[in-house]
Amino acid sequence: MTPSVLVSGAGVAGTTAAYWLARHGLRVTVVERSSGLRSSGNPVDVRGPALPVAREMGVLAALRERATHADGMRVVDAAGRTIARLPMQTEDGAVEIPRADLAATLYEAARDHADFRFDDAIAALEPGATGVDVTFDRGAPERFDLVIGADGLHSAVRRLAFGPDPELVRHLGVWVATLPLGEPADDPRHVLLYNEPGRVVSIHPSRGEALVACIFRGPARPGLDHRDTAEHRRIVAEAYAGAGWRVPELLAKLPGADVYFDSVSRVHLPAWTRGRITLTGDAASCVSLFGDGSSLAMAGAHTLAAALAGAGDDLASGLRRYEAEHRARTDAKIRGAGRAAALVVPKTRLGLAARNAGARVLSFVQDRRTPAAA
Ligand SMILES: Cc1cc2nc3c(=O)[nH]c(=O)nc-3n(C[C@H](O)[C@H](O)[C@H](O)COP(=O)(O)OP(=O)(O)OC[C@H]3O[C@@H](n4cnc5c(N)ncnc54)[C@H](O)[C@@H]3O)c2cc1C
Repeated sequence: MTPSVLVSGAGVAGTTAAYWLARHGLRVTVVERSSGLRSSGNPVDVRGPALPVAREMGVLAALRERATHADGMRVVDAAGRTIARLPMQTEDGAVEIPRADLAATLYEAARDHADFRFDDAIAALEPGATGVDVTFDRGAPERFDLVIGADGLHSAVRRLAFGPDPELVRHLGVWVATLPLGEPADDPRHVLLYNEPGRVVSIHPSRGEALVACIFRGPARPGLDHRDTAEHRRIVAEAYAGAGWRVPELLAKLPGADVYFDSVSRVHLPAWTRGRITLTGDAASCVSLFGDGSSLAMAGAHTLAAALAGAGDDLASGLRRYEAEHRARTDAKIRGAGRAAALVVPKTRLGLAARNAGARVLSFVQDRRTPAAA
């Protein structure tokens, strides 16, 4: 009989996994906690190992159509004056796209190949030698040959299969909140970045309305409910109290906006698999904001499906191959995540001044190389 797979989470990793598992002939069900796809999230890059995955899925053209076209970054002061310019990191063929558009494009590619069930979640997992018995919050219980946790940073599958081990997830001292601006950006080519010690705001031009990201330092909040959106808005408003530039105007848009709010965390597990349960995407190895989380999620999901298809009935060897291949991509990124946090959100005035001075030097060097862009 065709093996059955349950994927938890219809995000970037879950939709990619669903598409490829189905293409390899498996029977795929996806359970997604939200009632639909979310509109929030900042632009993310599809690059490196994610590009061939997107190409083979036939979605590269759709991603390019939905891409943002920012080609540089302007660091501004409280009066909105440019104090430094930074180039965007580019790679041949890479696509920068709002996260919501990436998720929607991948879902459109996968939806006819798998049974997507929104507004439901796994409540319990009972692993056995020949399958995993799954209880859902809403749907009837079912048995699957394999369960894949693609349910993000706060993965329920990880908690249920590996236990609530706080050692596995490390808050990097930074929080992120994103929301749509509700209008196009004034500057369609540049990301605007305004920094104060310990807090950053950016406005990222997009095809339609621009996207706002608030990235700020703050301690871990162990008791925080990751679905309490009112509390998330309160935390963001408190973190940015008294901030300059356009911040008061941007904060006024918080109520009523689709706000994505989360801790910037590192997820690092010694093993991604327990029997017939495995993890992929942020659930397995999260570097979120600072390390190609979306590209790695796509590449990992593709590798997982290919390894399972190549292993035939030997599920365990397929899962071992997936982990060996994909860990080679994620481990180096995970090690660099802490350093990136220090660069994006300097803690002190001195750190901020040093970062901006570095950016000015970079602008100067760039201007001399490309005088037309000055
Ligand atoms: C709305 C949203 C906005 C984001 N914005 C940004 C951003 O601006 N910057 C950034 O760096 N990263 C952002 N991320 C995270 C980023 O998308 C991921 O780091 C990356 O794409 C890896 O993808 P993933 O599929 O592993 O996780 P995600 O893309 O986070 O997808 C996980 C999916 O699982 C679902 N889910 C969660 N818990 C359960 C559960 N118990 N049962 C079933 N489904 C569940 C979620 O609703 C989501 O659809 C965002 C994620 C989301 C969901």
